[in-house]
Amino acid sequence: MAGFGFSESQEMFRRQVRNFVQKEIAPDARLRSKQDSYPMNLIRRMGEMGLMGINQPEKYGGQPADWVTLGIGVEEVARGDFNLAIVPTLDAGFCLAFRLVPEDVQAEWLPRVISGEILASVATTEPGCGSDVGSMTTRAVRQGDYYILNGEKTSITVGMQSEACIVFAKTDPTKKARGVSAFLVPLNSPGVHRSRLPDMGCKPMGRCSIILDNVKVPVKYRMGEEGKGFYVVMGQFDLIRINLGLMALGAAQTSMEDAIGYAKQRTAFGSPLAKYEGISFKIAEHCTRIEAARLLCYRTLWLRDQGQNHTKESAMCKFLGPKVAVAAIHDALLVHGHIGYSEEFPIEQRLRDVIGWEMADGTAEIMKIVISRELMGREFLPY
Ligand SMILES: Cc1cc2nc3c(=O)[nH]c(=O)nc-3n(C[C@H](O)[C@H](O)[C@H](O)COP(=O)(O)OP(=O)(O)OC[C@H]3O[C@@H](n4cnc5c(N)ncnc54)[C@H](O)[C@@H]3O)c2cc1C
Repeated sequence: MAGFGFSESQEMFRRQVRNFVQKEIAPDARLRSKQDSYPMNLIRRMGEMGLMGINQPEKYGGQPADWVTLGIGVEEVARGDFNLAIVPTLDAGFCLAFRLVPEDVQAEWLPRVISGEILASVATTEPGCGSDVGSMTTRAVRQGDYYILNGEKTSITVGMQSEACIVFAKTDPTKKARGVSAFLVPLNSPGVHRSRLPDMGCKPMGRCSIILDNVKVPVKYRMGEEGKGFYVVMGQFDLIRINLGLMALGAAQTSMEDAIGYAKQRTAFGSPLAKYEGISFKIAEHCTRIEAARLLCYRTLWLRDQGQNHTKESAMCKFLGPKVAVAAIHDALLVHGHIGYSEEFPIEQRLRDVIGWEMADGTAEIMKIVISRELMGREFLPY
């Protein structure tokens, strides 16, 4: 083994992002967490820091770096504000999917996404199906140089604020996943109607439902071949899953640091809480799990950087990261006693935020189906 750490340039990037997050993002994160609006000024600052352009074409404002570097950026932002870390996470997958559309469409959209001028979202889920994506009913019917899209998507993260959305729709309703294609849909198109969902957490990023009522999309906005876009685009989303794991772990790490600080200064029965093994062992166990899950995420990003298959590992990151994080944040709240339950402290908010990501982009059960398929073969899938 040549080495088991980050390179000098990766460490430098971590320091830069941490400094930026501590100065500009973390101080008002708790205040923002109560509001259902997104701080576009900070998203643009994240664009200036290069967070949305990692490993993206330089001609569109991107910078040559590896996926491990993206993970570092996502984790550091999530340590300060979980709600903002979704932007580099989603945009990385979005920009990759964009490699499937013609150059002129890329040139029109990518610079604005990479600079943080606009937000992008992804729409697979429908009221009638989430995990069983192949059962979607949204239709895309070709009419000359256009597709006409009809249907309803729901649970779309940053959907209210985004200008562009990758929408999955059936081009062949007689088929399941093989009948699905992906389209770039500008959300100011006539026939698009959006409504915000009232959620228990993640208020700034929020989720929404999108009704598509005879929405006209140019053929050149189709991502990949008809009926194949689903597989191609979903393949790119292996990347999102790893970073969702790191996002959750970043929020958990900060919660553990809060718990350690509190346990050292709060006394009970004449001693600091940190002296009681009921507290310190809990913290030791969660920090061990967080570290193990982080290593899995970074190794998976490294596998991707090496061009190696990492579908199984990505699903492991998505399954494990949020699970480990939710358990850690929950205990960090308990270590704080009654004040942890108060809205005056950020921990209850982090717990409500991160729970959603146990489901988003595929639940633990669906990730385990992916892992089992990769371990045992497609012929042992339950359906
Ligand atoms: C915070 C948040 C953000 C989201 N963001 C987006 C987004 O940006 N875009 C988007 O399209 N969607 C988004 N989603 C939706 C998310 O992808 C779906 O919630 C998820 O895919 C599960 O679908 P479902 O909610 O319809 O649950 P269902 O598919 O109805 O499943 C319900 C339960 O049954 C389990 N289950 C289903 N099938 C099986 C099986 N075969 N074996 C065992 N258990 C099974 C599931 O694991 C789950 O626990 C988001 C969700 C959340 C909570």
